[in-house]
Amino acid sequence: MAVAAARRAFDSGRWARLPPRERKSIMLHLADLLRAHADEFALLETLDTGRPISNSVDADVPNSVYCIQWYAEACDKVFGQTAPLPDNYHGTVVREPVGVVAVIVPWNFPLLLAAWKLAPALAAGNSVILKPSEKSPLTAIRLGELARQAGLPDGVLNVLPGPGNVGRLLGLHHGIDCVSFTGSTATGKSVSRYASESNLKRVWLELGGKSPNIILSDCPDIAAAASRAADVVFYNSGQMCTAGSRILVQRSQYSAFRDFLVRAAERYQPGDPLDPFTTMGAIIDGAQYERVLDYIRIGSREALLLKGGKPRSRAHGYFIEPTVFEATPECTIAREEIFGPVATVIPFDDDEDAIAIANDTNFGLAAGIWTKDVGRAHRIAQRLRAGTVWINCYEEGDDMTMPCGGYRQSGNGRDKSFHALEKFTELKSTVLKLFDE
Ligand code: NDP
Repeated sequence: MAVAAARRAFDSGRWARLPPRERKSIMLHLADLLRAHADEFALLETLDTGRPISNSVDADVPNSVYCIQWYAEACDKVFGQTAPLPDNYHGTVVREPVGVVAVIVPWNFPLLLAAWKLAPALAAGNSVILKPSEKSPLTAIRLGELARQAGLPDGVLNVLPGPGNVGRLLGLHHGIDCVSFTGSTATGKSVSRYASESNLKRVWLELGGKSPNIILSDCPDIAAAASRAADVVFYNSGQMCTAGSRILVQRSQYSAFRDFLVRAAERYQPGDPLDPFTTMGAIIDGAQYERVLDYIRIGSREALLLKGGKPRSRAHGYFIEPTVFEATPECTIAREEIFGPVATVIPFDDDEDAIAIANDTNFGLAAGIWTKDVGRAHRIAQRLRAGTVWINCYEEGDDMTMPCGGYRQSGNGRDKSFHALEKFTELKSTVLKLFDE
């Protein structure tokens, strides 16, 4: 029914052919409504996921509002090209909506990741079916209600909560033109397969990561780099695709950095997600909690535990201490995505060694480099196989203008920026003969 409703809405043209400035104004209204309900959305997100309420208030909701606004503004500002054909021809290259888009998102940042996809898909004129994770559907459902209130025509945004099987059915459905998926690499491979088994719908994948964060011997401030390294591996209890969970440190700075990192990890003590002072909330559910503890058990056998490693019992929810291991690049915990508050710190000898370790992975989502030497930073950045490289920062300077996505098995296509519009549009070339020569 959701697919039929989306198809009817698309074919009717009541959104796809609405003048862009009218689409823009409805989307801006949606962003305003979301802002007006910010506290409610922040609370829903924290209740659903166990993330600290301060993160939901300060980051998830305002960033989602901004994302919807940003793509709303793109509606009447992004347009096609005139091709340089011979004088007697007029050629245009335009982008048209791809049709019915299924958006499948995970539980780690439910509202924001949904916004990154549905905002450009709607701005381009598509009809959207949003499938949130069964573990965190509340903000998606509420956003669907606000979309209606904002004036989105019926059938243009359909929220379809349900378990993974709903995602599978969407992936196999012949009435869907495009799937934009964020989730694990394993499920991403299945989604690609569904497309080849059905109608070759376009498939865009934002998948997992095991990102290297490289601390070079001339890092300008070892304490600051260690502090940031802790932030980007323990934020959201480590349930973050871009987590810099492989921390590579040049040997001359290794012991100083390791001590700073262990101390910085102290800031992340699991606590009540609804307490505004909590820095680290809960793990999403029992299955993920067991998975993280399994990795900690593996790590305890193959690497050296420097800090943490224990569950923290609380009345409600699943909590794990921030955990730091000293490891080698071959360790399982240094190769597989754990998606929990577990950092591996690995010494290296020189730049070539760092590049080789950093690239020795199936993933390619993000990387960090810390050095005083800009030339050295760029030399290394050019050789890293990663969609985003941060230099002397990590997860900073973020903006809607910067695309986000991965190389290799971290996915294809990009969320955010004007490039995201490419995923949700088809290119059409039109040639008009003006006169005979
Ligand atoms: P999953 O792949 O398990 O699930 C992602 C979504 O797909 C959920 O909505 C899930 O539904 C659904 N799903 C599950 N099985 C199928 C299926 N067979 N066919 C279609 N859809 C299905 O990932 P997680 O939810 O565990 O999320 C964590 C993963 O997401 C990590 O690997 C992380 O790195 C990645 N991620 C990537 C990001 C990026 O930008 N590259 C950003 C954030 C996360 P349900 O949950 O209801 O089963």
